[in-house]
Amino acid sequence: MAKIKRLDKNLISQIAAGEVIERPASVVKELVENSIDAGASKISVNISSDSRDIRVADNGSGIGKDDLELTFTRHATSKISSQEDLWNINSLGFRGEALASMISIAKVTCITKTAEDENGSKAQCKESEVKISSVGCSVGTTMEVNELFYNTPVRLKFLKNPKTELAHIQEIMQTIAISHPEISFELTSSNAVLLKTTGSSNIEVAISEVYSPSLVKDLMTVENTDNSANMSLQGIISTPVFSRSNRKAMYFFVNGRSVKCPVVLKAVDNVYKDLIPVGKFPFVAVSLNLKPDEVDVNVHPSKKEVRYTNTNMVYNFVYFSIKNALNNFAPNNQDLEVSFERKAQLEEPSDKFSEIQHHPSGKTDFSSFRAASVSSFASEPSFRPVSQEKFLQTKFLEPSIKTVDVETPDIIGQFRNTYILIENEAGLEIIDQHIAHERYIYENLKESLKNNGSVPSQLFFTSNKIVLEPSEIALIEENAQVLEKFGYKFEIDENTVSIKQLPAVTAQNNPDNVVGAVVECLHTNFDKLEDKMLIMTSCKAAIKAGQKLSLWEMQDLIKKYRTTQNPQTCPHGRVISHIIPEKDLAKFFGRQVT
Ligand code: ADP
Ligand code: MG
Repeated sequence: MAKIKRLDKNLISQIAAGEVIERPASVVKELVENSIDAGASKISVNISSDSRDIRVADNGSGIGKDDLELTFTRHATSKISSQEDLWNINSLGFRGEALASMISIAKVTCITKTAEDENGSKAQCKESEVKISSVGCSVGTTMEVNELFYNTPVRLKFLKNPKTELAHIQEIMQTIAISHPEISFELTSSNAVLLKTTGSSNIEVAISEVYSPSLVKDLMTVENTDNSANMSLQGIISTPVFSRSNRKAMYFFVNGRSVKCPVVLKAVDNVYKDLIPVGKFPFVAVSLNLKPDEVDVNVHPSKKEVRYTNTNMVYNFVYFSIKNALNNFAPNNQDLEVSFERKAQLEEPSDKFSEIQHHPSGKTDFSSFRAASVSSFASEPSFRPVSQEKFLQTKFLEPSIKTVDVETPDIIGQFRNTYILIENEAGLEIIDQHIAHERYIYENLKESLKNNGSVPSQLFFTSNKIVLEPSEIALIEENAQVLEKFGYKFEIDENTVSIKQLPAVTAQNNPDNVVGAVVECLHTNFDKLEDKMLIMTSCKAAIKAGQKLSLWEMQDLIKKYRTTQNPQTCPHGRVISHIIPEKDLAKFFGRQVT
């Protein structure tokens, strides 16, 4: 065997560069993202005819003379410094790998100056060696990457023809330009201007500069915020009137970072699949903002993939945000509008305690979409935006039971985290929280079933596979249609089932527990099935005994309970409320009854 020896510095970098720099477009992406991180408002990119010479110039912060050499060293970054930072990443770059990789596979020249430095500096890099000198220049940075892959013949051979490479560069620049309408970008090659944006801060303007102005008339805004889950979504989507023959106009941004996200893609596909022809695709530019610790962007060095702590929640949030926005799009057709509204109600979770809630639009800190607003599209004749007031109305309608004006109950407290104690005219009322909630949900579901023919459900992007007996699998298979009516949908794979859809009211609970309960219901006679399914679903969805509730939650629950038609007993027949009359208490304590 050959003797073990240490690899030289440049070779180590070249190996690592394979991860970050795949092709000329990766160089463009890394350099432009660095310019954005440096706060530039103007970035110009020039590409040679063979796509192997790339120049990116910006008017950003520049690099200090003393930092310049370090900038080209592996794992040198100004963007994170501790492990904690790794989970709270807000800048585009963070690994300090791009420049170090580039100088191992190309000849790189950097000319830069900060506002503080009197003179500019120049770094000339080749084979991972860096030479620094002084130079006169203005504040900002120009990076020139020349003869890409000159010393890695295999990678050079794998480059596609210059036209294809340029097309990849154009695509990357389009994505970046649309995600940063506040920055002016220019892309030129062989004296031709391939892309130019003005940095207007307006996403519509950026879209019309990158694509064609006629596209804008078929677009609408989407905005949704879920305060309880700390998620917000903003963006621009095409109405069903528009479609394209490829997926290239789909832009997803998670916490400001452009990502390829199968979860968001699937949600978009599922919303549009019934609205536009098969094989056609929408224009979608959506930005999702989550708490940094809910998302891991550190999965791949090219920083394209993300992982979520709660994939199903993200999937549902995106799906319903876009679906609801499109439900409010009605191309001048009264009947259509009615059916859209009915659908919106159907899909809205019926219960305030449910996990997925749709709140009115809120502000997010993703500045790129800041400028877009519903009103800015209002003048376009091709669709009629629904007013914000109506939008809220549609979103918050509880699907069935009409909210009668119920007085806020006078709650004394919660006993054993199970019973709610209320002071009222008759005396001291004690209510079992679980069965009161169960009664409310049960009546709600029944009403939904009566009015809409089905129970509102929520979709699952991923779920565990649960092993069942062959007879149980057969039972689920046979009753698939009935189950769907009750909000349940399963995927069967040999002896396992996985959840595709559950009633929206059960969203909060451990979904795996539900499968066994469903199978048990299916063992019942057909004529009792409906009631059994609704009872089981209400029981699973209801607040449990032993669960601590806040005063607000107790008030909310009791108000809902007061709207029920049969408040005496739960669907199983148990008594829900017990009142100790004041006069009985007085008698017991030997007080004068007034
Ligand atoms: P990362 O972006 O992951 O930090 P890079 O290798 O891309 O790693 O860049 C290393 C460092 O060089 C950055 O952290 C930044 O401090 C500096 N830098 C690179 N490009 C620029 C630029 N255009 N303007 C200002 N600073 C830059
Ligand atoms: Mg970088």
